[in-house]
Amino acid sequence: MTDRTDTVTTNGQTGAPLWLLAELTYRCPLQCSYCSNPLDFAAVKEELDTAEWIDTLTQARAMGAVQLGFSGGEPLVRRDLETLVAEARRLGFYSNLITSGLGLDESRIEALREAGLDHIQISLQASDPDVAAAVAGSRKAYGKKLAMARAVKAAGYPMVLNVVLHRHNIDQLDQIIALCDELGADAVELANCQMYGWAQLNREGLLPSREQLEVAEATTARWRERLAERDRDMRLLFVVPDYYNDRPKACMGGWGSIFMTVAPDGAVLPCHSARMLPMRFPTVRERPLREIWYQSEAFNRYRGDAWMLEPCRSCDERHRDVGGCRCQAYLLTGDPAATDPVCDLSPDHHLVEAARREAERDTRSAGELTPRNAHESRVFCRS
Ligand code: SF4
Ligand code: SF4
Repeated sequence: MTDRTDTVTTNGQTGAPLWLLAELTYRCPLQCSYCSNPLDFAAVKEELDTAEWIDTLTQARAMGAVQLGFSGGEPLVRRDLETLVAEARRLGFYSNLITSGLGLDESRIEALREAGLDHIQISLQASDPDVAAAVAGSRKAYGKKLAMARAVKAAGYPMVLNVVLHRHNIDQLDQIIALCDELGADAVELANCQMYGWAQLNREGLLPSREQLEVAEATTARWRERLAERDRDMRLLFVVPDYYNDRPKACMGGWGSIFMTVAPDGAVLPCHSARMLPMRFPTVRERPLREIWYQSEAFNRYRGDAWMLEPCRSCDERHRDVGGCRCQAYLLTGDPAATDPVCDLSPDHHLVEAARREAERDTRSAGELTPRNAHESRVFCRS
């Protein structure tokens, strides 16, 4: 592992972070086999306390951040969530709670509303309780999620449902969208599983086939028409899996460009997946947030385009997609500076094609995938 966080570099072009994702905890009652948390999350013991989080929010707001997501793990596990939401409101953030719905009840929704929370996003695993239970590792979660989605709507929040799609639930998309409609959702994110963290570990068992994907896109298009005919305002956002694209996404709008994640132990990351890269990220316990964002080696390493290798370095599209995702490049090639292999100009694109072929041969059921839990995580913890 490289530890060069004390090497301070300066980038005069860097703008302020607009988004702060506050990962309050890695604790979670669910065990989703596609979770994007790091494989070794169990190694993180000392979460930032309430005062440290308030100081972090205050620093981020002073730097210009305006959007704040409370995430995890399951952020509702933190009993000080309402205190942090109230502080976010006082500081002038627009705040969003990203939750599984477990740990929520009517009185907590009311307390969060009073504290000034602007937005709640609940995740659903499937429209079928058996598939939901197999993916999340909990039989109780399905009913609880539906009840909480109704309660959030009844409390007057705009309701955004997030459904992670994969080969075990994508064929139920028609029923999933119908369920979201029945729940009164205002927007639905149909986010095909991206292969980081636990999803990467279970990749072949999660990646849908091209045929499944095409049917799902057609289903989404049909639903958009039906909703428009009924004048029903429920936005459907369909996110295609990277592995079926021939150009990568402009990950996080560019490394250290607008997004900043603070992990439960205070590590400051350019995105929630970056923790697994072979580099050390400074924490808010070690250095001020402003210094980490503008001056740390970690945040400057992949800013701009000077770090790019060929074919990105001389590619006309490099300012559009910033060479893709550094985590994906590292996971697939072992080199975080490589061109994202999703790009069909990458010399490593064959790795993505091979992963698609391997997925087609995978016969595991949803219940046979590796669950995201502390027991499994300890296997990945360094001593
Ligand atoms: S993806 Fe599942 S296991 Fe991971 S934090 Fe969210 S609810 Fe918990
Ligand atoms: S070669 Fe690099 S910059 Fe060009 S399209 Fe592919 S990923 Fe983007």
